[in-house]
Amino acid sequence: MKPTVRFFQPHDNVSILMRTFSVLILFILTIQVSKAAELDYNLIAEPVVEGTYVFVGSTKYFSKQNGGNIVNTAYIVTNAGVVVIDTGPSYRYGKQMRDYIESTTGLSIIKVFITHHHPDHFLGNQAFNDVPIASLSGVINGIKLQGNAFTDNLYALIGDWMKETEAYIPTEVIVPGKFSIGGHEIEIIALDGHTDSDMVIYDHTTGVLFPGDLVFHNRTPAVANANIQHWLDSISKLQELNYKYMVPGHGAVISDEHAMIQTRDYLSWLHKHLQNALDRGLAMSEALTLELPASFQSLDILHEEYKRAVLQLYPDMEQNYFN
Ligand SMILES: [Zn+2]
Repeated sequence: MKPTVRFFQPHDNVSILMRTFSVLILFILTIQVSKAAELDYNLIAEPVVEGTYVFVGSTKYFSKQNGGNIVNTAYIVTNAGVVVIDTGPSYRYGKQMRDYIESTTGLSIIKVFITHHHPDHFLGNQAFNDVPIASLSGVINGIKLQGNAFTDNLYALIGDWMKETEAYIPTEVIVPGKFSIGGHEIEIIALDGHTDSDMVIYDHTTGVLFPGDLVFHNRTPAVANANIQHWLDSISKLQELNYKYMVPGHGAVISDEHAMIQTRDYLSWLHKHLQNALDRGLAMSEALTLELPASFQSLDILHEEYKRAVLQLYPDMEQNYFN
C-alpha cells in the first residue's frame, strides 16, 4: 500500500511561520523582561556614622554576576542636601543609587565628588547630570583621555548592566583645600599613585576619611595605572590624618590603620618582587608563575590581580631596566 503523504498548502506554511515567529517574539520579550528585572544591584546603604552612609561593593573583579558592583560609593547627609562620593560602575547603578538616597533621605543631592578616573567610580555620573559633579583637574583629564576606552571595556565585561552608559565628564573643577558645605567642614586633598590624580575627601566634622582607591581592604590592590612609589608616599600622608573611620575604595569600612598597612605592604612587596625578577633576568612568562607569599593569601583575588600587575607593569620595567 502506498503511504499517504500530506502536502502542505502554501497558506499552511505561512500560518506555521507566523505562529513560530510570534512564539519566538514572545520568548524574546519574556527573556528581556526577566533580564531587566534581574539587573538590580539591590543597593542597601550601611551607616558609617550618623548621616554618613556607604554602599559596600564586592571585593571580586568585574563580572556579569556582580554587574560591576565591586566598589564602595558613599553619601553624606548635610543641612543643605546630600553630598555623593563616587557614582559606581554604570548608569544603571547611578540611577539605583540616586533613587535609594532620595527615597530614604527625602532630600536632594547637591554635589557629587569623583575620587579618580577609574570606571567603577564614575560611570554612574549620567544619573546625576543635573547636579554639579566635581573633581580635581587631573581626574577630569583622565576621564577625558581614558573614559571611553574604560566604558568599552566594561561593556565587554558586564554586558547588559552597562546599557546606555556613557563616560559623562565631571562638570566642576575643584581645588585642594577646606570648605564648608551644609554644616560639614570638608577637606579635599590631592594625592596620586593609584592613578595620576587621586582625590581624597576628609570630613573633619565627622572624622570620616574617603581615600578612594589609595586604600584597599582585604582586597588585592589594582595597579593598572599605578606609580607604586608615589602611592606609598600618599599612604604615608594619609597615615598622618587623625580620622575616626575610613571608607576605602574597595572593602569594608575600618577605624584603624590595618587596611592602609595591608595596601602598603602589598605594594612594597610587589615592587621589590618584580625588581628582583628583573635582576634574575626572568621573562614575563616566568614572572607570572612565581609563587606568592602566604601573608597575602587572605587578600581577595590575589592571583588575578598579581597576573594583571605583571602584565601591566613588567614590560615597562623591563624596558627601563635595559635602557
Ligand atoms: Zn581605581
